[in-house]
Amino acid sequence: MSFILYGLAVSEGIAIGRARLASSATLKITRVEIGARRVEKEIARFDDALARTRKELMAIKASQSDSITDIGAFIDLHLMLLSDRELTEAPKQIIRERLCNAEWALSIQGENLVRQFEQIDDVYLRERGGDVRQVIERIIRKLSRRASRSASRSGKDETQIVVAHDISPADIMSIKDRDFAAFVTDVGGATSHTAILARSMTIPAIVGLRNASELIRDMETLIVDGTRGALIVNPDPAILKEYQSRKEQFERDQSKLKLLKTARATTLDRIKINLLANIKDTDDIQPVLESGAEGIGLFRSEFIFLGRENNLPTENEQFEAYRKVVEAMDKRPVTIRTFDLGNDKNLTPDDDHGNRKRNPALGLRSIRRSLNDLSTFHAQLRAILRVSALGRVRLLIPMLSHTHQIEQTLAAIGQAKASLREEKTAFDENIPIGAMIEVPASALSIGLFLKRFDFLSIGTNDLIQYTLAVDRSDEQVSTLYNPLHPAVLALIARTLRCAEKACIPVSICGELAGDPALTRLLLGMGLRQFSMHPAQIPMVKQKIKQSDISKLVPAVQRLLRTEDPSKIMKRLERLNR
Ligand code: PEP
Ligand code: MG
Repeated sequence: MSFILYGLAVSEGIAIGRARLASSATLKITRVEIGARRVEKEIARFDDALARTRKELMAIKASQSDSITDIGAFIDLHLMLLSDRELTEAPKQIIRERLCNAEWALSIQGENLVRQFEQIDDVYLRERGGDVRQVIERIIRKLSRRASRSASRSGKDETQIVVAHDISPADIMSIKDRDFAAFVTDVGGATSHTAILARSMTIPAIVGLRNASELIRDMETLIVDGTRGALIVNPDPAILKEYQSRKEQFERDQSKLKLLKTARATTLDRIKINLLANIKDTDDIQPVLESGAEGIGLFRSEFIFLGRENNLPTENEQFEAYRKVVEAMDKRPVTIRTFDLGNDKNLTPDDDHGNRKRNPALGLRSIRRSLNDLSTFHAQLRAILRVSALGRVRLLIPMLSHTHQIEQTLAAIGQAKASLREEKTAFDENIPIGAMIEVPASALSIGLFLKRFDFLSIGTNDLIQYTLAVDRSDEQVSTLYNPLHPAVLALIARTLRCAEKACIPVSICGELAGDPALTRLLLGMGLRQFSMHPAQIPMVKQKIKQSDISKLVPAVQRLLRTEDPSKIMKRLERLNR
């Protein structure tokens, strides 16, 4: 049956492929096609993994002392699940029917079972879905230690589209080298870090589709229209043909925009605008070089840390990653932000029971976390300072809001510098140190920052979230996440005005900076430095080249005096005509 679902369009483009239903646990599993002759061997491999899992559980049970009765009860429950035909026989049927590897068959059956548990009213029984997941993961671990060699040899690539209830940034980082053409999720907001990652991978993505992962079956044909936020399931041939040609047109338009690479970003009234790129790791260097960016305005260094809870990157490992970027950018500036971990960017993927802390965005995140773990912070500061000897490096601190945090941070930088001096390790003594303005408190007490920092960068993704009290990752409140809210505009305008007066350079590195519909508004507000994902640079540059700031300023001033949202929208449309 063909149907369409609508969600939030978060990463442009069109992808056509097969649905690959996935959860955090199963994302790492690849579907491998097996020949009909391999079926019985694959089933034997599955039976062997079941037997070894059972043995392991019995051994754990035997090693528990009698006093820990709870653990014994859980193991009994897991052993009972291990004998259930739904887990032991149904995957074999999937292997036979779909000629696929055992891991894949088990993960598909696991998704089916967990979904059934989620629909149970009784809370106790519903929560047993988590036990099913744990048992499945245990079997999968056994299977992956003895991967089917001939199965992986006969594996064949197909364009895959990940369909998941949710995908954390850490999950995406763990699968980024695999070939996914797009992804769609039930939950998530347009400026969540998952969405930002999709843009950085330049693959189409839609989030906030609500129940897509329940309605879609594995291997169904999907069209992801990441520009309109439409997901077409089992399209009929005419729609498929129409989308093939739209896809080709989109790719042709993108190539044309690339011709702007070497053009200068200068307005009609000859004002030069600085266009910088946001990156997450060294994989993004090539797209930056191809985009014609004049430097890196935001290196989200925390992505190097994701998934590394028990094995944090050392100072040297970080130094190597930063060095690659600095050398590739030659003499162009590279702004490295100290790690902004926490909130939706956790060191490990969310566990499968959806256990998250409450209000993580308001918790121990970003610089708060760095100041709470001074040895990790110290190692990172040293790595950044060391790399400053090799190019034009700037150090950027996220999410500051209090004077004592500013002082502690500057003291930590001072200590890192002193330790390098003592060792006679080279670094730039005058490395520019900047602060992100992403909390309303910092925009309103901007004087604190102007006195102490060499540059500012407005993180509008968080500034909007914190000003409007709207979780940027929650699709249920996505309509309230409005960059054009008068309070948000007032805070941005204030920051730009005060920084200009104090002669402190200021950029915007949130998603607003890469939205061509807002380029003229931001130019009229006084922004001269934009930092965005490299793929957005050509579109924003094109808009800049068609704009006359002297004409924009009075119109933007009028817009900023407006409080009625519909009038703000009308004035914005007029600006863009
Ligand atoms: C922001 O908040 O706008 C920003 C650029 O930082 P991040 O999106 O990584 O939180
Ligand atoms: Mg931020």
